[in-house]
Amino acid sequence: MNNKLASYFTERDHELWLTEDEREDLKVSYRIKEILFEGQSEFQHIMVLDSYSFGRMLVLDGIVQTTSMDGYIYNEMISHVPLCIHPNPKRVLIIGGGDCGAAMEVCKYSAVERIDMVEIDKIVVEVCKKHLPEVSGQLSDPRVQFIFDDGVIFAQTKENEYDIVIVDSSDPIGPAKNLFEKSFYQSLYKALKKDGLMVCQSQSPIFHVEVMKQTFQRISDLFDETKLYTAVVPTYPGGLWSFTIGSKGNINLNPAKVSKKKTQYVNQQIIERCFFLPQFMLENVYRK
Ligand code: SAM
Repeated sequence: MNNKLASYFTERDHELWLTEDEREDLKVSYRIKEILFEGQSEFQHIMVLDSYSFGRMLVLDGIVQTTSMDGYIYNEMISHVPLCIHPNPKRVLIIGGGDCGAAMEVCKYSAVERIDMVEIDKIVVEVCKKHLPEVSGQLSDPRVQFIFDDGVIFAQTKENEYDIVIVDSSDPIGPAKNLFEKSFYQSLYKALKKDGLMVCQSQSPIFHVEVMKQTFQRISDLFDETKLYTAVVPTYPGGLWSFTIGSKGNINLNPAKVSKKKTQYVNQQIIERCFFLPQFMLENVYRK
């Protein structure tokens, strides 16, 4: 085992364990069956692992990003909710999302004509297509244009082009740090058409309250209407996960628009109810 792997794994009694550092005083360990891919890209350390409890997992810089066990929950929630709000979504931009799961979900809407997927790291896409087909679906829809670039720089060059922007980023460290900055949301505002909307994952309402509050604040300073919604994703710390929508117009949800193609998590009731928030979130975010 090289030094990098030794910093992520421990071997005891012939068992291999990946330990993820959530924060200084919280670590989560997964028992691993097999390392399917391991390598260092220009941007991050990448692994695809086969685990006992979560199936196959994509791990970037030691942090679990998505798994074959529950990746569909996150990917369906970050995609179908904005598509049930925008009245006529034709052009969609996805920033990040290298596991291809969000793009797979957007492809379930026939109204969408083109999806630009701007992922900084080509190797993430290649290894997910090869080793994580449950999440990536080996995406090959001709409406998807892969662009390998930094989402921050790409967004700066766009004006009045997209109906929906989905920011499917990793945590606000490493290459994804700038995807949580106000200047990036300003670029997205400009990149959106006049009735456009954006959505991003805004971290755990329990373990990352400050990131969630700051994300909500930065987006609501720019957009006409901003709303939070949640889903439970067992892979992520604390389970409960938040998403923030910023819209140039009013957020009018139409759950009946949810795709009739097969989903595993979303349905009309989930779309309708995901905006109901627990009391502590209402107090944390909506009360100044
Ligand atoms: N569902 C996941 C989560 O919440 O942890 C996110 C998964 S997705 C794999 C995140 C992707 O964002 C990664 O593939 C990473 O390479 C990409 N990414 C990070 N920073 C980026 C940037 N500045 N521009 C474009 N893509 C970026």
